[in-house]
Amino acid sequence: MNYYSLNKNAANVDFREATIKGQAPDKGLYFPEYIPTVAADIIKNIGKYSKEELALEIMLPYVGNTITKTDLQKIVTETINFPFPLVQVQENICSLELFHGPTLAFKDVGARFMSRCLGYFSTQQQNKVTVLVATSGDTGGAVANGFLGVDGVEVVILYPSGKVSPVQELQLTTCGQNIKALEVKGSFDDCQAMVKDAFMDADLNDHLTLTSANSINVARWLPQQLYYFFAYQQWIKENEAAPVISVPSGNFGNICAGLLAHVSGLPVDHFIAACNVNDAVPEYLRTGNYLSKKAVPTISNAMDVGSPSNFIRVMELFQNSYQTISEKITGYTVSDEITKQTIAAVYQHHNYLLDPHGAVAFYALADYLNTHPGKKGMILETAHPVKFPDTVEEIIGKSIEIPESVKPLFQLEKKSVLIEPTFSDLKNWLLNR
Ligand SMILES: *Cc1c(COP(=O)(O)O)cnc(C)c1O
Repeated sequence: MNYYSLNKNAANVDFREATIKGQAPDKGLYFPEYIPTVAADIIKNIGKYSKEELALEIMLPYVGNTITKTDLQKIVTETINFPFPLVQVQENICSLELFHGPTLAFKDVGARFMSRCLGYFSTQQQNKVTVLVATSGDTGGAVANGFLGVDGVEVVILYPSGKVSPVQELQLTTCGQNIKALEVKGSFDDCQAMVKDAFMDADLNDHLTLTSANSINVARWLPQQLYYFFAYQQWIKENEAAPVISVPSGNFGNICAGLLAHVSGLPVDHFIAACNVNDAVPEYLRTGNYLSKKAVPTISNAMDVGSPSNFIRVMELFQNSYQTISEKITGYTVSDEITKQTIAAVYQHHNYLLDPHGAVAFYALADYLNTHPGKKGMILETAHPVKFPDTVEEIIGKSIEIPESVKPLFQLEKKSVLIEPTFSDLKNWLLNR
């Protein structure tokens, strides 16, 4: 399998190079040159497969011969070594809980897979690889945890000082070893701009092998298909018809992975792109006009993206046909007010606590099912509510129990380096450590 650049102005590369580079030299996103088909027989008998067998089957064509089958089996097995339960919330809606990984958000899957692949490839490289990543909260923790102790890779995380939740901050500042946290006296946009400048800086790139760990990297994006298959394994035990799947979306990596799974053969009735007021894509689905916007802060902050970088992959998957895309996906715009009401109502009626991102997806799905009677569906619950305690506790009027796995974090000491929100400060730090 090779990958081409969506800007169509760079050479095709294999999975190894796409992972190390992150983005093509022409600044395009890499895209697989064909979409492998999952055998109909596997889909039909999906209940007979273990998670590990399925994961290997699905990832193998994408990785090609860049990783041996034995090593890939080990990598996928480590990537998915926690549960992905599909929980019934109300008669026609289930929740696929993607928050049982080490940092309590779905980004663990992509980060764990990418870190192990990069670790594997770095043994064939002379230079240490430096992963540079800006985070508004969840990415940093997942990447820190995934890469901790991986030989030949060092990770530098930039996060906006005072703008991530306490659990999120501890997850990215307490790892030590090969993980460094830079606390930037600025916003997430500043962090992202500093990282972008770093990738463009010739001098820095002469000294360091830099790569990015956000969802533009194929090694982070592609494994997100896996839990759609795990969801279907569980769904099909109770249902005959395929599900409607509602995905809380920001950068559109997650929903794009689901669409990829669907194009490869996974039965899905319909997709819902559930967004907060940062709704460039729902707007496009409604009108046919795509306009990127400036990001607006909301309580579902991991989706505060004005210009979703993976949407171009969704377009490519459907040959840029507005008609096909708008038949397959419905977009929703959900305000903070409705998000809060949804958290309260679902907690009250079903004793199920949603986080703000899951609540956006829930509202959208419930509305869609109301107008499409007879259908059933699932939301992807992308984070544990404890990651957003201020919002959630205020709505339900009591404190959330902290999961056992998170408690030890509060014993650890935060270690970060405070820097100014300028590229020159970042560069100085990277070169003079
Ligand atoms: C990152 C994130 C999202 C958005 O996922 P995309 O792949 O960027 O669309 C949704 N919910 C949570 C909790 C996240 O951390």
